[in-house]
Amino acid sequence: MYRRYINSDGLVIMLPYQIFEEIKVQVAKFYPVECGGIFVGKLLDNNSVLIVEIMMPEKFKSNRFWFYRISAFLNNWLSNVFKRNNGEVMYLGEWHSHCDAPPYPSKKDLGSMIRIAQSENVRIQTPLMLIVAYDGKNYNEQFYILFENKLIQYAKQD
Ligand SMILES: [Zn+2]
Repeated sequence: MYRRYINSDGLVIMLPYQIFEEIKVQVAKFYPVECGGIFVGKLLDNNSVLIVEIMMPEKFKSNRFWFYRISAFLNNWLSNVFKRNNGEVMYLGEWHSHCDAPPYPSKKDLGSMIRIAQSENVRIQTPLMLIVAYDGKNYNEQFYILFENKLIQYAKQD
């Protein structure tokens, strides 16, 4: 049902298979152009989050999708999700693909996450980032959490 990821502080991310499949479809569709979006979820307990939905901006311009993150479309969607779930489902972070490259964050990725954490539009100090590497055949996903201006990696758990 879920893919599980854990980091060295014992924080857990649960990603439903179905949502990972949705992401893979988008990544393959846009390949070799990178794509991405945001994801929302809820806290299961102090250490675990469950991702419940993903959303993509309506349009991309080459690789500059980060600029769309705060678009009216995503902001509206976020507040709808928030209302629909009585405030239990919230913004957790961002996902994007790396085409023909490993799932390691670039300097730009780190900069984007730091800006997100500082943004007044989101209520999360430690946003998550999911990078899905794709080479036209294989997927390799990697989660990170932003903490003290560093991206800390999660490990896949069986
Ligand atoms: Zn990246």
